[in-house]
Amino acid sequence: MISSRWVDRLLQQEADGCRWNFFKENKEVVEVAQIHPGLQITWLGHSGFFIRTPGGTHLAIDPWLSNPLCPDSAKQLPRLDVLLLTHGHGDHVGDAVTLAKQFNPQVVAIYELASYLGAQGVQNTIGMNKGGTVKVAGLEVTMVHAIHSSAHVGEGGQILYLGDPAGFVVKCEDGFTFYHAGDTAVFSDMQLIGQIYQPELALLPIGGLYTMDPREAAVAVRLLGVKKVIPMHYRTFLPLTGTPDALRELTRDVPGLEVIELQPGVPTE
Ligand SMILES: [Zn+2]
Repeated sequence: MISSRWVDRLLQQEADGCRWNFFKENKEVVEVAQIHPGLQITWLGHSGFFIRTPGGTHLAIDPWLSNPLCPDSAKQLPRLDVLLLTHGHGDHVGDAVTLAKQFNPQVVAIYELASYLGAQGVQNTIGMNKGGTVKVAGLEVTMVHAIHSSAHVGEGGQILYLGDPAGFVVKCEDGFTFYHAGDTAVFSDMQLIGQIYQPELALLPIGGLYTMDPREAAVAVRLLGVKKVIPMHYRTFLPLTGTPDALRELTRDVPGLEVIELQPGVPTE
């Protein structure tokens, strides 16, 4: 587990119990969405997902299992074939090293972050860069742009550069394609992602402060041309205030758009 000082600080801020009051205001509706036949997506809280693809590949993206939203029931993964990491911040690298040592998956990250993980004892790393595509366990994984930062901050405040932040486009075995934006602001080249890869589903951050909030995400939806959106990177901490309802409100005029609000640990069908 790679810790990050600011994550520790935010967790400390939550210790006063405010977070629980915040949750109480959120509706406790558990709906199981169907997104695509054979595709099962479990949100692990924050930007973490565990996904079983239609071809049976088990994939995790940014698995930070100790985040405040991840229920205990979701912390034991049954299997892991592929692990994708968008950038080097502690709330995204999360439990990657532990999981990689436990399951020995193919680990895909930008070159510098992959090298860093290799030095932590992670086997089977695939270092790549933006615009590149790798075929891994039956999936086509393309690394795309993100506007953010990416470094490990040591206990003494030393900054260790871990390459650019990124997003991923994943084309499943049956052609179903989705986009995980990582942490990012909105950027107009999201239109190119829509044009080139034509994802049907986008996993977009909406919390604000460190990433886009619903105002920018509503523009991202239009640039990407997706019809399904799963919001992420919200609710984890008090400052991440964007909500799926706000995104829904701002995208009402987008024909056929579904904003799919997942509950942490509850898989789609
Ligand atoms: Zn980040």
